[in-house]
Parts: sequence; structure tokens; C-alpha cells
Amino acid sequence: MPLLEVQNLKKYFATQKAVDDISFTVNRGNIFGLLGPNGAGKTTLIRMITGIFYPDEGQITFDGRKFDPVNDVVHIGYMPEERGLYKKMKIGEQATYLAQLKGLSKKDAIAKIKEWFIKFEMQSWWTKKVEDLSKGMSQKLQFVTTVLHEPKLIILDEPFSGLDPVNSNLIKDEIYKLSQKGSTIIFSTHRMEQVEEICDHIILVNKGQKILDGTVKGVKNQFKENLFSIGFEHIPANLNGNPPFEMVGTKENAFIVKITDGHKPNDVLNYFLQQQSGIISFNEILPSLNDIFIKLVEGTPLTRQFQAITA
Ligand code: ATP
Repeated sequence: MPLLEVQNLKKYFATQKAVDDISFTVNRGNIFGLLGPNGAGKTTLIRMITGIFYPDEGQITFDGRKFDPVNDVVHIGYMPEERGLYKKMKIGEQATYLAQLKGLSKKDAIAKIKEWFIKFEMQSWWTKKVEDLSKGMSQKLQFVTTVLHEPKLIILDEPFSGLDPVNSNLIKDEIYKLSQKGSTIIFSTHRMEQVEEICDHIILVNKGQKILDGTVKGVKNQFKENLFSIGFEHIPANLNGNPPFEMVGTKENAFIVKITDGHKPNDVLNYFLQQQSGIISFNEILPSLNDIFIKLVEGTPLTRQFQAITA
């Protein structure tokens, strides 16, 4: 049974179809990427999943039952893009208060906060105020307050913005650990390389509609173009006979080829072996999620990360 099922969800603002008939499923323990350009409808979708907005139409099923915004909200941790911490309140008190709102007793809340503060080297922050923290520090605090009560569903909107590489890695590791412990994570970002690295499954939303849904690997395979890169000790001066491929580009000491229909990667290797070329590498080139995103949203061809050969 999936943790979250969204069926035919709609939310219109006057004539703006912010979310226009979107359905998807989030499986338990998954790290799920919710992607889309600015204004696509992601925040509106998240606000319905977290009970902030009522949908105009459609259904949300959470943990096998119709989503109940009042009672289910304790099972959801949401870190919105606009961070909402009380600037004047002391950090320890604030974290305790937020954890109590999510159903923890004061004693459990303090114990958990201490655990996380040690893990994130934040022990000395307890009596500081949020307004005394840097952007990255308050980001860490907000992450801790989002996940502290170990919610079934964690929704993170741009969790790495403003973090240095060390703190990004710290948060990334915790995201993996939370998913391994059974939390399901919805992750919204515009940084596609993070999505490739972290997410199991993605959907892409554009103009209020879902235009892509699949595993990261499946999506990349769906858009592959049968392109391979073959690296040589010395790049061959010419191609003899009938190559089982079309030359499409070069990159340093490599040819970029597109295998012609009816041929396989082995045929390409055999061809070059017969030519006695010193092959040092052979790799399939899959499009990046960034390229796929731009292709789908802009309607342009996939960009190419190599020197194309023009006729
Ligand atoms: P971003 O990546 O820029 O955060 P988003 O994908 O989260 O964008 P939404 O904030 O969901 O996009 O907005 C979707 C559309 O709905 C936009 O056209 C936006 O102007 C509109 N919209 C969102 N909230 C409201 C509102 N409260 N009233 C009117 N229109 C709204």
C-alpha cells in the first residue's frame, strides 16, 4: 500500500489553473522528486497534501485512508521554501515548542532535540535567538524541527538552498537515513543534479499538469538516443568500411556515435577492434535530467554536451 495517493487533484485561483487534474502515487520509503518550473503548481500541490489548502476537486489518500488534514498533519513534516521560524524566540525553546505541536511530550521533545543538536553540532545554540543565526544555520534548525518527530511523510522544499557543501552533505546523509528508517520523502527543487543523486522517483509538473512520471533511471532511459562515447589512445584518422553507427560528435579523445537501427553496442566495439584502434573507454550517453526538463518544458531538442559534427 503506498503512503500517499493523489487522484485528479484540482485547485484553481480565479482563472489560474494552478493544479489541473494531477494524479500520482508515492511509495513508502521512497525519495520522491516533485519537479517543475517556476509557477508550475508545486507549492499549491504541496499545500493540498499538507492540508493548508482544500482541493477544489480530487482525492488524497494518506496511509490507506482518506486524508484527514486535522489528524494526519502530525504524521507530516513540511519544510516550506519560505522558512517560518520565530526570530525572537530562543532556539531550544522554539524547537521544543514545535516538537510539542507535532505531538511529542516535553521530555521526549528535549531528548530528541539534544540528540539532533549533537549530531549537527548545534549544542551551543540552545539559548541563542533565531535572529542571531546565519541563513545556513537557521536552515539546519528548520530541517531538525521538520524531521524531529519522525513523521511518516517529510516534504522538503529546496532543503539545500543557502547551505555550504559540508552542511549539504550532512542534510543529504540524514535524508537517506530517514528514508532507510521508513520515512517517505517528497523533495522539491530546481537543482536537477541533486534530484539525479537523491531521488528514486520523479514527477514533472508544468502549467498545472503532470507531464512526466517515473523512476529516475526509467525516465533517463525513456529519453535516451542510442548514443555512445568511445575513447581512444589516439583518435582514428578515418573510418573504413561500413560503420554500424553514425558519427555525431567528438569530445577530447572520444568519438560520439549513434548506433544505427538493427545494430548493437557490440557491433560498434567489433568494428573498432577490427580497425585495430586502441579503445580505452566505451560508455552509453544518457541525457541528464536537466536536459530532459528543458526539453519538455521548453519544447527544444536535448542539448548536447559534446562538439557536434555538422555536415
Ligand atoms: P515556484 O517554483 O516558483 O515556487 P510553484 O511550482 O511552486 O512555483 P505555485 O506557487 O504552486 O508554483 O503557483 C502556481 C500558479 O498558481 C502560479 O501561476 C501562481 O501565480 C498561482 N497561485 C499560487 N497561489 C496563488 C494564490 N494564493 N492566489 C492566486 N494565484 C495563486
